[in-house]
Amino acid sequence: MRRSADHRVPPAAPVERGAAFGEEPLTDQSTAPAADRAARDLHAFIAALPKAELHVHHVGSASPRIVAELAARHPDSKVPTDPEALADYFTFTDFAHFIEVYLSVVDLIRTPEDVRLLTYEVARELARQQVRYAELTVTPYSSTRRGIDARAFMDAIEDARKAAEADFGTILRWCFDIPGEAGLEAAEETVRLATDDRLRPEGLVSFGLGGPEIGVPRPQFKPYFDRAIAAGLRSVPHAGETTGPQTVWDALTHLRAERIGHGTSSAQDPKLLAHLAEHRIPLEVCPTSNIATRAVRTLDEHPIKEFAAAGVLVTVNSDDPPMFGTDLNNEYAVAARLLDLDERGVAELAKNAVEASFLDAAGKARLAEEIDTYTARWLAA
Ligand SMILES: [Zn+2]
Repeated sequence: MRRSADHRVPPAAPVERGAAFGEEPLTDQSTAPAADRAARDLHAFIAALPKAELHVHHVGSASPRIVAELAARHPDSKVPTDPEALADYFTFTDFAHFIEVYLSVVDLIRTPEDVRLLTYEVARELARQQVRYAELTVTPYSSTRRGIDARAFMDAIEDARKAAEADFGTILRWCFDIPGEAGLEAAEETVRLATDDRLRPEGLVSFGLGGPEIGVPRPQFKPYFDRAIAAGLRSVPHAGETTGPQTVWDALTHLRAERIGHGTSSAQDPKLLAHLAEHRIPLEVCPTSNIATRAVRTLDEHPIKEFAAAGVLVTVNSDDPPMFGTDLNNEYAVAARLLDLDERGVAELAKNAVEASFLDAAGKARLAEEIDTYTARWLAA
């Protein structure tokens, strides 16, 4: 989900932090102690597993700690600076409230130094979860429209990217996405920023489209995607998150999508599933996000099982993790439960993300090998 002030996503039921919402429970009440131990072991395995994250939003990754730091810089904001008060602030009563909180965080990103701080600190959180490689979805239009100079914005994210790689060993790459609700003007500005040789950042690998799907048909963005693809960027639009499978077909046909953000409704169309499987077009699945936005009613009804059964390349991602009370490790735990995976199965899931990533061949081979070595050591211990 790319955040916007659009409220056409069905209103969510009250959203709570913690067990009811994000944290995957270790067991249900009927589980025997041995199974409980196995679940704990699997969580520990996931926590230290080297991973790639392919669908996570820049501003949507601002944890309460990062938000507190930004809020302290801008005392005129109504966002609390005290971490405890922030925990309450991040407890959403409904989807409209979530949007309000999200936009108040957007309002804290006012200077290039704010952009740099956010980016660097997001990388720190990714590194803590053993994320070795992340494609971070950035919406430069939100910042340039608010008066941040485009050159300064690019310098800020690039500076943070290089510092994060040196300090944490986490490789960051960018996906610049069009905020769909802002229309073709935003598309024009985003493609300009992504393809102008004087501005385009070194870490940029892909071009996306987020925001609401209802009332924002994908085909109108074809000329912008054509330009981005001609400039060497990969196409990764959100599609089929809040609308039906036709939106995914549109993303494939008109936007030449190489991966699909969410693609949740693909499960309603067996032909589409077969097409995704045959052409190895990965889905960026974000289970907890789908529940939070009511794209899917409950985790147990999540179509990830149908995707896997149809042979689709499934990747697991976190979308806007702190806002949904989750993180990538928790999303892996959720997926492991839904797909009934053991350590080997979870390692394969992590390798799916490596395969679906836009790392070069050598980078993919290195990360896949690191996952294999880690898994072999874990199983031998
Ligand atoms: Zn998203």
